[in-house]
Amino acid sequence: MDHPKEACGLFGIYGAPKAAPLIYQGLFSLQHRGQEGAGIVTSDGTRVRCVKGNGLLNEVAARTDFKELDGHLGIGHVRYSTTGGCRIDNVQPLLVECIDGMWAIAHNGNLVNAGKLRQMYQESGAIFQTSTDSEVLIHLLADPMYRTRPRRVARALSELRGAFSFLLMTERCLIAARDPLGFKPLSIGRLGDAWVFASETCALTQVGATYERDVRPGELVVVDETGLHSDFFSEPPTDRGAQCVFELVYFARPDSRVFGHNIHIVRYQSGRNLAREHPAEADVVVPVPDSGNSAALGFSQESGIPLDYGFIRNHYIGRTFIMPEIIQRHQGVDMKLAIVGDVVRDKRVVVVDDSIVRGTTSRRRIELLRQNGAREIHLRISSPPTRHPCFFGIDFPTTKELAAADRDMEQLREFLGVDSLGYLSLKGLLEPIGGAKKYCSACFSGDYPVAVEGSSGKRGVERFQTTLNLNQQKTEP
Ligand code: SF4
Repeated sequence: MDHPKEACGLFGIYGAPKAAPLIYQGLFSLQHRGQEGAGIVTSDGTRVRCVKGNGLLNEVAARTDFKELDGHLGIGHVRYSTTGGCRIDNVQPLLVECIDGMWAIAHNGNLVNAGKLRQMYQESGAIFQTSTDSEVLIHLLADPMYRTRPRRVARALSELRGAFSFLLMTERCLIAARDPLGFKPLSIGRLGDAWVFASETCALTQVGATYERDVRPGELVVVDETGLHSDFFSEPPTDRGAQCVFELVYFARPDSRVFGHNIHIVRYQSGRNLAREHPAEADVVVPVPDSGNSAALGFSQESGIPLDYGFIRNHYIGRTFIMPEIIQRHQGVDMKLAIVGDVVRDKRVVVVDDSIVRGTTSRRRIELLRQNGAREIHLRISSPPTRHPCFFGIDFPTTKELAAADRDMEQLREFLGVDSLGYLSLKGLLEPIGGAKKYCSACFSGDYPVAVEGSSGKRGVERFQTTLNLNQQKTEP
């Protein structure tokens, strides 16, 4: 019912007669992954152009002239800031001119050693333009120690720790890479002769591309005029991965295939397991739309309790967590979800949701259900209690803000104001999708797959807030 903030979405294409409209379409279907900023960089082989700005993709498009984006290759990004604030210069793709040409970078994830690398370069005189962790890759690529040696990109990437899926481009080539533990998704598709890359397969489908495969953990894929070439910048460990299980629980769209699984099917199965682990005596199963829909269907079919729509979502308001203050959150919740009183009045209601983070939104929903006459409310969550922060690219609140961090189940039930409460077990979540060794589930278990000491939070490298009132930036080198 309340959620961590989004990740980011990447889309890239090489070999389309006109890349920009396809990138726009692809990013449009990834908008759920980030709404703070959007940008597209394209190249015709000699000239690079960039359009970006704060806000939703269509807002950025309305303020800019997309017709200027020429070229057969390009990358795009929709952003939710997981490091750095909402400054215009933090909006990606980041575009810089190095001594040997232009580089554009789009990143999904969070680098846990960015602070250290940044300090190292700053001490030797480098100037950083943004407060994002992603910028350290630019400095690595420009560093003569890497720039003048073979396998420059591979060497630079191997210095990074943490979670990253990157799309990079120069005037002439497109590069895709994924960290050795595979935290963040990145898929490869084909559209005629063009190669397409996207955070989720729903974006491939959107542009008419067919899914080929995922970029493999530790893999570096380069596409240029000679075709697609693959190499590994780091051998992925054979005994474990760290794919972000929250992608399956909440972030990804139900029609996407992520880490080899269809999202709807995973959530549906979680709902069935949840009904087995935490049955309820009730009259109706009500999903919290949209991310609770598939699990509620599974719960209903497993339990035999009919499913009905007790919440109606207003799609014309942004996601509630965009508003930072709790007061605003309450108002946003009421505007975002309406109760269908006739569905819940005098009923014993099972409410199914995907996760609870702060719990403030959940409590408000429960209050509204009671005000609309629900007789009993049994809350069922299709993931385990979220007790630990994320350092890998999801903007979770601090530990003390997490509802489940220091409450036992009975305290949580009381805090949320429900008659009964049940969370899916970690085993019930992970076993149907291949087991614990393939996934990061640290926000549930506290078992971080990468050392996080010294990792900075969202504003760890933020030293100032820009006062420039820029809402778009065009670059024409
Ligand atoms: S801590 Fe949670 S949200 Fe963060 S990468 Fe791991 S599973 Fe995903």
